[in-house]
Amino acid sequence: MKHIETIREMQSLALGWKRSGLSIALVPTMGALHAGHVSLIKCACQSVQLSGKVVVSIYVNPLQFSPNEDLAKYPRDLQKDMRICQEAGADAVFTPTDSLMYPFEEKSGDPRLKHSTYAVEETLTQSMEGVARPTHFKGVTTIVAKLFNIVLPDYAAFGNKDFQQAAVIQRMVRDLNFPVQIIRAPIIREDDGLALSSRNIYLSTEERKSALCLNQAIKKAKEKTSKDGLPAEELKLELKTFIENNPNTKVDYIEFFNPETLSPVSLVSTGTQIALAVFVGKTRLIDNDTL
Ligand code: AMP
Repeated sequence: MKHIETIREMQSLALGWKRSGLSIALVPTMGALHAGHVSLIKCACQSVQLSGKVVVSIYVNPLQFSPNEDLAKYPRDLQKDMRICQEAGADAVFTPTDSLMYPFEEKSGDPRLKHSTYAVEETLTQSMEGVARPTHFKGVTTIVAKLFNIVLPDYAAFGNKDFQQAAVIQRMVRDLNFPVQIIRAPIIREDDGLALSSRNIYLSTEERKSALCLNQAIKKAKEKTSKDGLPAEELKLELKTFIENNPNTKVDYIEFFNPETLSPVSLVSTGTQIALAVFVGKTRLIDNDTL
C-alpha cells in the first residue's frame, strides 16, 4: 500500500492508473478509522473489483468545522489508520496537509490572494446539519470536490451515518457533472446499537450509556410507525422527552423527512426518514434510519 502526501504525487499516480485503464474508488475520511470506515473501504474494493485501485484520503478538513467545534482535539492516529487501511485492502492512503490543501489561506494577509472558490449546494443543506452547523456543508462539498480533482475517482464511497452529507454530495455530483458514481453504505453499529463514530471516544462511561438513547429513540419511532400517518410534531416531542430523560443529554434536532428530497414531512409513516442530533455531555452525536 502506498502512502501519498502531496497533491502532485496523488494526481500523477491517479493519471497513470487511468491511462492503464484501471478504475479508481475513493473513500474520503477524517481518520480515527473504525469498522464504519472499513465497511466503506470494502464497498470501494467491490466497486473496482480486482483490477481497480482504492484510495483512502485522511484529512481533518478545517473548513467544515465551526470555530466552536472540536477541530484541535479531533482524534488523530495515522499509524493505526494506515494499518486499518492496509488490512481492509486499500491500495493507497492520501494524507495531505492544510498547507497543501489551502496554501493561500495560510500565507496571505491579503484577502484578494486567499483561497476563495467553493462548492456550495443550496437546497439540501437548508435543514438539520446545515442549520445546526451553518458553514459545515460548504466545507464538505469544497473538500470533496477538491479530492475528486486530485484522486480522479470513478467511484466514491460515503456512509449513510452522515445521511444528509451523502445526499448533498450526490446532488453536487449530479449538478456539477462530476464523472463519479457515489456509493452509499449502511451504518455500522456497536452490538448495543450505538452508531460507530470517531467522536465516541470523547464519551465517559456514563455518557456512553446515555448515548444509547439515540438508537433507542429511532427504535421507538419505528415501533410507532405504520402506513397511516402519525403527526411528526407529536412524535418529535415524545422522542425529545424520552431522550432527555437520560442523564447529560440535550436534543439538538429531531427531523422526519423524505429520504430522496430531504423535505420535512408533517405525517410520519413507513418509509419516512428520521435523523437526530443529540449532545451527550459536550459530544454531539448523530444517527438516522428509515422508518
Ligand atoms: P468521517 O471520518 O467521520 O468524516 O467519515 C468518513 C466516512 O465514513 C463518511 O462517509 C461517513 O459517513 C462514514 N462513516 C462514519 N461512521 C460510519 C458508520 N458508523 N457506518 C458507516 N459509515 C460511517
